[in-house]
Amino acid sequence: MAEPEPVATSEPATLRLFFALWPDDATRDALNRTGKWLHQHWGGRRMRADTLHITLAFLGGTPADQLDTLFACADSVRAEAFELVLDQAGYWRHNRIGWFGASQTPPQHLDLVDKLNTELKTAGFPVDARPHVPHVTLLRKSLGGEIPACDPVRWPVNDFVLVKSVTESDGAHYDVVKRWCLDK
Ligand code: ATP
Ligand code: MG
Repeated sequence: MAEPEPVATSEPATLRLFFALWPDDATRDALNRTGKWLHQHWGGRRMRADTLHITLAFLGGTPADQLDTLFACADSVRAEAFELVLDQAGYWRHNRIGWFGASQTPPQHLDLVDKLNTELKTAGFPVDARPHVPHVTLLRKSLGGEIPACDPVRWPVNDFVLVKSVTESDGAHYDVVKRWCLDK
C-alpha cells in the first residue's frame, strides 16, 4: 500500500531561533541614529532599523516541536527589569561587524543571561560557552577605524523575546514569536 502523502504545513520543521532584547520604538530610533553616525565613520552595510536587537542566547536551527519546551524555559526565568545604557561603539575585525555596546553591563542584564542559559542547558539546548558581550550589530562588512564618541542611548529593558530568523534575498528578517515580562 502506498505511503500517505505528508501533510503540507506553512511552518518549516526547523526554525532558526534566538532569545533577545527587542527595543521599544524610541530606543530603536535612537539606535538607528547611532547606526547612521557609525556608518559615516566606518562604512559598510547598515542593519535595517527593524532588525536591531541584542541577542541573549542563540539557539540556531531548532525543531519546531521544541517550541513549547523553549517557552517553558523562558517561563521559569524570574529576573528584574533594568535600564541598559549603551554608550560604546566597537568593531570586530574577524567578522567586520560594527556594533554598539555598554561600557558598564548592569548586573541585572548578566543575571538574565545566566538564568536563561541555565534553563536552556538544563532542558538540553545548546548554549554558547563564550562570555556574553551585550551588543547591537549596526554595520556589516564594515571597515572599522578609530572609535568615534557616540551619544548614549538609554534603553528601558522591561521584557525579553524569542525571535525567529528567516533569511531572505535582502538579508535576515526577524519575527518576534513570544514576549516575557521582567519584574518591576
Ligand atoms: P545572516 O546570518 O543571515 O547574515 P544574522 O546573523 O543577522 O543574518 P542570524 O545568523 O539568524 O542572523 O543570527 C541572529 C542573531 O543571533 C544575530 O544577532 C547574530 O549575531 C546572533 N548569532 C548568530 N549566530 C550566533 C552564534 N553562533 N552565537 C551567538 N550569537 C549568534
Ligand atoms: Mg548570522
